[in-house]
Amino acid sequence: MQRYSVFAVAREALRFHKGWQRAWRSPAPKKRYDAIIVGAGGHGLATAYWLGRNHGIRNVAILEKGWLGGGNTGRNTTIIRSNYLQDPSAAIYEKSRSLYETMSQDLNYNVMFSPRGVIMLAQTHHEVRGYQRTAHANALQGVTTEFIGPDRVKKLVPIINIHGPRYPVLGGLWQARGGTARHDAVAWGYARACSDMGMDVIQQCEVTAIRRDGGRVTGVATTKGDIACDKLGLVVAGHSGVLADMAGFRLPIESVALQALVSEPIKPCMDVVVMANTVHGYMSQSDKGEMVIGGGADGYNNYTQRGSFHHIEETVRALVETFPMISRLKMLRQWGGIVDMTGDRSPILSKTPVDGIFVNCGWGTGGFKAIPGSGWAMAELMAKGTSPLADPFSMFRFREGRFIDESVAAGVAH
Ligand SMILES: Cc1cc2nc3c(=O)[nH]c(=O)nc-3n(C[C@H](O)[C@H](O)[C@H](O)COP(=O)(O)OP(=O)(O)OC[C@H]3O[C@@H](n4cnc5c(N)ncnc54)[C@H](O)[C@@H]3O)c2cc1C
Repeated sequence: MQRYSVFAVAREALRFHKGWQRAWRSPAPKKRYDAIIVGAGGHGLATAYWLGRNHGIRNVAILEKGWLGGGNTGRNTTIIRSNYLQDPSAAIYEKSRSLYETMSQDLNYNVMFSPRGVIMLAQTHHEVRGYQRTAHANALQGVTTEFIGPDRVKKLVPIINIHGPRYPVLGGLWQARGGTARHDAVAWGYARACSDMGMDVIQQCEVTAIRRDGGRVTGVATTKGDIACDKLGLVVAGHSGVLADMAGFRLPIESVALQALVSEPIKPCMDVVVMANTVHGYMSQSDKGEMVIGGGADGYNNYTQRGSFHHIEETVRALVETFPMISRLKMLRQWGGIVDMTGDRSPILSKTPVDGIFVNCGWGTGGFKAIPGSGWAMAELMAKGTSPLADPFSMFRFREGRFIDESVAAGVAH
């Protein structure tokens, strides 16, 4: 693979950029693979990448019904943080956050990781107590966060109104090494690295059925024909229930639309990410200057990758209280993605009732930040049948009553 570097850019500039290679191949599917991953979002691609890098399994296909990164991976608001309450969550999200720190170098692809800091505002006394508890838990877990007072919040975010009419800012949970990254670059970087290892990233290839021989998977039927495999990873976010149904089991997942919007670009005015979970909205500023704004999920199940007007209104109305200056901004565009929600708001990384099928889903409104760590854990699970990071997130925890309750850290926040 051609390496990207300052010298490569200079060389190509001299020859009118005619020498760049394609970043990844577009091969036809082979008849058989050791492992097939369904879904070329960040989690599917990261799973394939770590299967190759950590476990030497490279006869792998990643099948995508649309274009890679076209699902939630290319639709999210890119917040990265690891300030979760429960130990298994802190472990996998912090692993992930730490992998983001070196991802551009590891993949030789600039994913624009920007550890600018993330504040989760405490706007009720209940939230103050909740976030102080999380800060203490994070200290024990080795995750660096702190509870800060309103004056520090104002210093970090000068445009904030800390004396809001309904919900004054009482403090915040601050993670200085949280931040953002360029979402589609994460998918493209992994796709390029997978292709370079000899894996096949196959777009426009929808899985339409799962083939089984008794209790074991044997392959998949796709819009490009049947493909056999020994192991199958289902990593399709909002469509996890659909794929599980094809395989003959049920998942405790609900699919709902989650929406976001961006404003017209303005001069730099906010260099941290702010989440206001009580009023129900969050905001950061993109490198282009747009204010990137996210709100809540729809209250009903659906598969429409669209937004709805009442959400824009509710989210903007909520944020105007805390950031009065945004009332003067024009909103540019709005979109939606289908997120996969579990009852305890924690993901599922698991073996399934079908031998050889593994599932990675349930990241709900907050899985972008988890992409590298989830891929690491899922690859280990697929290669070895067990993984310290993934094991607590088995789908069977719902039957066994071992919930990993993250409703405070992940119910609204992303
Ligand atoms: C508006 C919005 C804002 C968000 N904000 C944040 C945030 O700030 N921070 C954060 O951490 N997370 C956020 N998230 C959540 C995050 O985007 C997701 O958790 C994450 O991207 C999931 O990645 P994935 O790879 O599992 O799924 P996806 O990227 O959705 O990939 C799944 C892929 O599977 C493919 N697929 C489905 N069915 C089939 C089939 N039958 N055959 C082949 N392919 C199939 C789909 O086309 C899709 O490309 C947000 C989500 C949304 C929608």
